[in-house]
Formats: sequence, structure tokens, C-alpha cells
Amino acid sequence: MKLISKNKPSFLHHKIVEFKQGINGIYPNLTDELKTELLEALLKEQNFLCAYCMQKINLQNATIEHIIGQKYVDEDGNKLGEQNQLNYDNLLAVCNGKSCNKEEHCDTNRSKFQKKYPQRKLFITPLENRIMQNIKFTPQGMIFYDKFTAIEEVEKLSNYENLSEMENIKYDIQKVLNLNCNNLKERRLNIINALKIFTKNWSDKERIRKKLNEHISNPSNEFSQVAIYYLTKKLQ
Ligand SMILES: [Zn+2]
Repeated sequence: MKLISKNKPSFLHHKIVEFKQGINGIYPNLTDELKTELLEALLKEQNFLCAYCMQKINLQNATIEHIIGQKYVDEDGNKLGEQNQLNYDNLLAVCNGKSCNKEEHCDTNRSKFQKKYPQRKLFITPLENRIMQNIKFTPQGMIFYDKFTAIEEVEKLSNYENLSEMENIKYDIQKVLNLNCNNLKERRLNIINALKIFTKNWSDKERIRKKLNEHISNPSNEFSQVAIYYLTKKLQ
């Protein structure tokens, strides 16, 4: 995961406003055309990478995810989910969550949690720099937040109401979005291993910095954050 800066194209703004003013102007009634335009804008904004797992996605296999779930109602009874269904800043492009064999991940796995716990919001968000700055990877390709917590410990977390924000974010990564399922972990590990071999005898920091800048300037690389994290650490 990495920071996503929202920037709604103005043509889309006008179209959405117009749609909302019409009869039945709610998200489930979006026309295919407008939905495709919306998805395309989100994909471009995210360099065609899933907002959660960072694998490559395209118009054919991506879907639109609502950060505030569509059915979410807050403690005071405000229907925030419904109110934000067409709020561009609440939308992300995500993968179909099916790249880990039988296990699901990303929004596909999250939707199961939402059915079970409709009141639980997602604590991890790629829109907050404060949170994205603490996304890290182990040398084995596992994604984690802030300080590494053994998976067994994260697995024990269950009652989200009593968890701290940090614990909830760890819970989101591991259980709700299932971002450490095998295939994703392996693909991140491959990037780390390739870089390890490639930079094995590099003692010149400038050389590492150059490689790092290469990755930073290619934000459409799959799992780009893994390489950036690895090289940044190597520089320290
Ligand atoms: Zn994904």
C-alpha cells in the first residue's frame, strides 16, 4: 500500500453532480458508462495498481471500492455509507482479490467482514500519509504496520472495539484485507530477493540512491513500495 492523492477530474465532477440530481441518482443505479469513466479515473490516479495489494489492475479486472462501506451507519445513526457512495474521495480502484488460490484478499475479503460487522470501519487507508509512512515489509515479503507483531498475536485480535488504532490497522492488513496470503507474500519476496542479489556488492550509497530514485520515478511498477522500502533501508 502507498499514499494515494485524490484529484477528481472536473469533467467527472460535473457528470456526477448531474447524475445525483436526476431521479434515482444513487450509486447502485450508476450507468455503465459513468461507472467505467469513474473506474478509469481512479485507475489513472493509482497508476493502475490495486489500492490495497499493489498488483497491476486494469479496466477489465478492477472494481470500485468504497472506503466507508456503502451500508455503514455511525453511532449516531448517520448513514455515512449512503452519503458517501458517490463521493470521489471515498472511492478506490481495487483488484478482484483472487490471486491467492482459495484465499481471498483486498476488498473481496473485506466484504465478508462487512457483512459480519457492518459497524466496523476500515482503519487502514491509503489516503492518510500518517498511516502510509509506517507501512513496512519483512525480508520474507510480509507487509506490516509500524512495529512487527508476530502473526499469531495479530490472529488473536478479535474484538475491534477494544483495540487501539494501531492494533486495528494490523488487524486490517492481516485479517480484513488478507494482504499476507501466500501468493502476494511470494511476489513481494521475489522483488526483495532480486534486489538483494542485484545490489549485493554495492557499497556506494550514491549507486543505491540512484536505484531508489529509479523506483520512485516508476510508480506504476507492481508492488513498487516493496523495492522503495528495501532500498531506503539499505541507505540507512
Ligand atoms: Zn488487491
